[in-house]
Parts: sequence; C-alpha cells; structure tokens
Amino acid sequence: MLYNTVYIAYDEEAFAKLMISVIRSVDAKVEAACAASKSHIAFDREHQLPCLKNNETYLKPLSFLTAFFTCCCLLMAGCSASRQPSPYLTPSTTTAHSQTKAQPSSQPQPQPPKQQLPKRSGPLIFLDPGHGGRDAGATVKATHLQEKALSLEIVKRVERLLTGWNYNVALSRRTDVFIPLQKRVAMAARVNASLFVSIHFNSAASRKSRGAEIYYYDATNSTRSADSKRLATSVIHRLCEALPTRYRGVKHGDFCVIRETAMPAVLVEAAFITNPKEARLLASAPYKQQIAWAIAKGIDDYLHAK
Ligand SMILES: [Zn+2]
Repeated sequence: MLYNTVYIAYDEEAFAKLMISVIRSVDAKVEAACAASKSHIAFDREHQLPCLKNNETYLKPLSFLTAFFTCCCLLMAGCSASRQPSPYLTPSTTTAHSQTKAQPSSQPQPQPPKQQLPKRSGPLIFLDPGHGGRDAGATVKATHLQEKALSLEIVKRVERLLTGWNYNVALSRRTDVFIPLQKRVAMAARVNASLFVSIHFNSAASRKSRGAEIYYYDATNSTRSADSKRLATSVIHRLCEALPTRYRGVKHGDFCVIRETAMPAVLVEAAFITNPKEARLLASAPYKQQIAWAIAKGIDDYLHAK
C-alpha cells in the first residue's frame, strides 16, 4: 500500500511533499511523546533508546520503530520512483511554480497540444501503377525492362512532383504486389478520388513502334468521358512537348480501370519498351523524370483549366 502510494506520486516534487508530511507526522509524534512524558529525563533506562528531539525525551520503542520503518520504506520507494523519468516535469520546470502541476495519477493529466498540420484541400489524384506482383505486364529480356517496375517508378516520381505542388495523392500500390483491377477501382472510390491516372508502358511485335498514347472511356453524353478526354489531351500534350516522342493520340479504350471508375480516368501508355531507342532512354533516370514531370504537369494543367 505504501509503495503504491509513492509510485502514484512518481515524481520528485510529489515525493518531496510526501516526505515533508511524513516528517511532520513523526515530529508531531515526538512532540506528543515529549509532552506525555512531562519530564526531561536524559536517559530511558528501560529501553536504552536515543532521543529524537532536542535530547529532551525518548520515544517508546513501538512508535519509534514504526516511524523508522516508515521512513525507510519511503526512502526505498522514493529511490525507485526517482529512477522513472517524470513525463511532465523537465529540469527547467522543477521550481516552486511547477509544484502546482504535479497531480495524482487519478486526475486527468494535461496533454501537450498536438501539432496540427495544415490539411490540404482540393482534389485527390489517384495514381495507379499498372500491373504488379505475378502480373509483370510487358517485359523485354534483353534490356531487363519490366512494365510493372517502370510504371511503379514513374508513379512514385509523379507523386513526389504533385505532392510538392501541394496536391493530395493516393496510390493503388507502392510495392511489387498484384492488385486486381476491380480492387483498384474500389480503392479510388473509397478515397473519393477526383482523378484516376493509370500509368503503363507499351509493347508491340514490331520494334519500330514507338511514341505515347492515352486512353479514356468514351461513353456518349457522359460528362465524365468529356472530362477524361480533356485530361488525356492535357497529359499527352505535355508528354509530346517534353520528350522526343511520337504523338500516337488520345483514344477510346474499354479497359476496366477507366470504364468502371466514377471519376475522370485515363490510362497512359508512356512509351514502348520494345522500341530500342525508347528502351535505351527509359534506362536513364533524367528521362524517367521527364516523363513523370510531363504527366504531373498535364494533370496540373487540367485541374487549373477547370
Ligand atoms: Zn500495361
């Protein structure tokens, strides 16, 4: 019980206050004993005990031993408690002023205010790196290029650019993991994304095929389709402006991620990994950054034009 009491106090100031109250209590007992004895006998023949107050009288063994045992217990408990850092008191606050801050643990403790980060407002852009996991997408053994890895790298670069421009961004995957197409659509819906941009790389039987193309789902009389087409146009314009690529067009595509999504959605085929020249360029980090910048800037253009 005593240990419990001291652990509840658990900081130096509370412990000091407790000690003072115990000492005063012992003091009071000594004074009471002195008053009771009404004598100034310098030596207790019966118990041979030293006097605790001004050599005037001696305590009876029971009260003295009780006081002594109490002090020992408090000192031991105080040492244990003092090893625990006080979560509320720092050296600069261990002053008389701060004594009012030490509260029993049963009382609600004041918490430091949490730092409020400014919440970004505005649209949330959902970026979807194509393929992943067991679905590698297009691959070229000779160059070790894999569509799933390239698309993920480009998406991460786009994310960094967009967040740097203070946009909210969410990704369907950040690692080499397989995610079903319907799940990607559901993820974008769950975060209430404003835009869906899926990023892929093309392949063809002919090594001559090259350039960039972007797909959107063309439904008649659909505002979403019209917005998707505008988004696709903005992005491919920036791609063709920033890269030595070939414009292959903005096209209708009946792909799950652009058909089933509820927000404007495009699927970017940024380059052909089967074209030797584009494959060589895709091995270069600055070129990949140029692709990412063009996609991010195209998204930014679309959002500013709205
Ligand atoms: Zn693909």
